[in-house]
Parts: sequence; structure tokens; C-alpha cells
Amino acid sequence: MPSPHERLMRRGGSWMWCVKTVKWFPVIFIVSVILWSYYAYVIQLCLLTVVSNIQRVVYIVLYHAFLLFFLWSYYQTIFNSIGKVPSQFRLPASELDRLMQAESDEAKIQVVKRFAQNLPISNRTASGAVRFCEICQHVKPDRAHHCSVCGDCVLKMDHHCPWVNNCVSFTNYKFFTLFLGYAFSYCMFIALTTLQFFIKFWKNELNGMEHFHILLLFFVSIMFALSLVSLFGYHLYLVVHNRTTLESFRPPVFQTGPDKNGFSLGKFNNFQEVFGDNKNLWLLPVYSSLGDGVTFPVRAQHQSNLYNSMGSTHNSLGDGVTFPQRCIDEDTDSLLGGCQRWDDNEAGCQRWLESEATSHHHVQQDDSDSSSAVPDIVIMN
Ligand SMILES: [Zn+2]
Ligand SMILES: [Zn+2]
Repeated sequence: MPSPHERLMRRGGSWMWCVKTVKWFPVIFIVSVILWSYYAYVIQLCLLTVVSNIQRVVYIVLYHAFLLFFLWSYYQTIFNSIGKVPSQFRLPASELDRLMQAESDEAKIQVVKRFAQNLPISNRTASGAVRFCEICQHVKPDRAHHCSVCGDCVLKMDHHCPWVNNCVSFTNYKFFTLFLGYAFSYCMFIALTTLQFFIKFWKNELNGMEHFHILLLFFVSIMFALSLVSLFGYHLYLVVHNRTTLESFRPPVFQTGPDKNGFSLGKFNNFQEVFGDNKNLWLLPVYSSLGDGVTFPVRAQHQSNLYNSMGSTHNSLGDGVTFPQRCIDEDTDSLLGGCQRWDDNEAGCQRWLESEATSHHHVQQDDSDSSSAVPDIVIMN
């Protein structure tokens, strides 16, 4: 007979399994819509309604081309793993012991600060504290955030997207952008090719009951296309400005204050950061992004404006890359709403660091950062 503890563990395991299953519901919904659209378009429209053989072949070939790129980019976005934080950022057991044994917040700050001096980071919270994830027990690389849904720190986190049941991050941002673009193209192709049948229906040249699937397909494709075009446009805007969704809500903070364009290298270079420098791969859902997801080039004024509270951080992970200096705003989860949850625990992770930094060392910067961040957020929205 199982012990109470074992029963509890089993119940917890069943609960986790339920949660994991529920997280797939949005993906299952999207896949179901795609499967139905396939039936409606290929069977109902192309095979049973279209009269001309040439038109039928053209429709079917083009449809499958759009579908292929749409599904390919969707698959890549879903199943590409989120970037792992390098082990160098994890506090070793000795440092963790020191952290646990530290008697004051100031002592804890010093432990993390001392450890971070050997890391290629320049991000800070608004108060100037080192960004540390208590759950993952490592210092966060620049632009990385803890995702409460994934339960891990995610490199260059953009947001957690339930429609792909994955974090949109450094590793799959190109795929996500292509997914939006191809999904929009897929919907527009369907809408434009079914439009003539919708017009025929209004002219009473088509029986609505017999062609129910085609008429519904027209409306559904228009509805999805309208939703996708704004999202696709927004992410293209973010790509050419080298900004994540999180950073568009809360600009990264540099020594001179928040700078929403702090990572911007010019529109074309920003585009290449995500899509790579090989033109042949830009439209293909294959990995071609530049960089390692841990360090990022910044604008010149921030490179010369070294953040002195950390001392020198021009370090390298050993691959010959020298890391520039920059600071980023603290992490907050209150700005993005339910569908983009992130860092539920991050504020708590850093509370002791921030409160200590505010009360001792960085009062002036904290005040100026807080006041100047608000107008930026308002403008961006
Ligand atoms: Zn974390
Ligand atoms: Zn996530």
C-alpha cells in the first residue's frame, strides 16, 4: 500500500501531466484549424467546386507551397529549444554556500557582485544591482529573463507564446517572425482565391449550404489575416529596431539612463542579427541568426560609457569575443498581461538585491531611472 508521501507525489505527477497537456491546447486548436482548412480548400474547393483543370492545378500547387513554409516555420518555432544559460553563469557550490551563509543583504550583494565580475555581463536592474535568478541560481546574461511557464531563464527572451507553447527567444525568433509572415500569406492566399466564390454566393450563383466550408473558409482566413498582419508588422518593427517585446515595454537601462535603441545597430544590421548574413537563408525556416545569445553588440556611446560599479567586464567566454558594456532595466511581469507571462518570480528573486542597492549605493541612479522610464513606455505603447 502506497505511503501518504507516495500518494502525494503521484497526485503531483498527475497534476503536472494535466498542466502540460493543457498547455498544448492552443497548438492543438491551431493544428485543427489547419487540418480543416486543408479539407475545405483542397477537397471542397479545388476538387469539388473549381471547374477549370488549369485553375485547379495552380491552386493546389500554390496552396501546398504556402502550407509547407507555414508548417515548417511553425514546427521550428514550437520545437526549437530555448537557449540555455552557459554554466559559467551558475554560482558554484562554494559561492552558493557563501550566499546562504551571508548574514546581511549587503553581504549577499557582495557575493553575487564578486562572482559577476568574472562574467561578460553589463545588465543591471534599474537600481544598479546585478541580475540574479534565485530559482536557476545563476547570474542572468544580458537580455535573458526567467520564464515562469518554461521554468527556466531564457536567452534574449521576447515573450512566452501559448500559441506555440514555447518561449519566443534568441533561438527561435527568426522562425517566429517567419511563422507570422507565412501564416499571414497562407490566409491571404486562401482569402483571395475564395473571394470569387463568396461574390458568386452573394449573386445567388452559388448554393450556400452546398458550399458552406468554402464560405466559412473565406471568413476564417480573413479573420486570421487581420489578426496576423498587425502582429507580423509589429515584430518586423522590433526586428529592425533590435528590440524584444519585453524591451519595447521597458527599455534597457544604460549608465546614461534607459535607451530603447541601446542595442540598435542600424536597420539592416538589426535585420541581419535575426535573419543572418546569408540572403539565401532569409526566407527559409533554418537557423541563421548571428551571435551566441549571451552577449550582444551595443551602440558606440554605451561602449564608451562604462558602468563603473562592476569594474571591468570586458571579458570573454574563451571564444575570442569581447563583450561590450551595457545595463538593462530590472525585470517585471506586470506589463505584458496573462498571455505573455514571464518572470513571475523574478521580482522576488531580486528583491533583496534591489532593496539593498537602493538603500545603499544606487539611490541617485535608481531615482533617475524610474522617472525617465515611464515616458518611454507610454510613448512605445
Ligand atoms: Zn531563472
Ligand atoms: Zn517560456
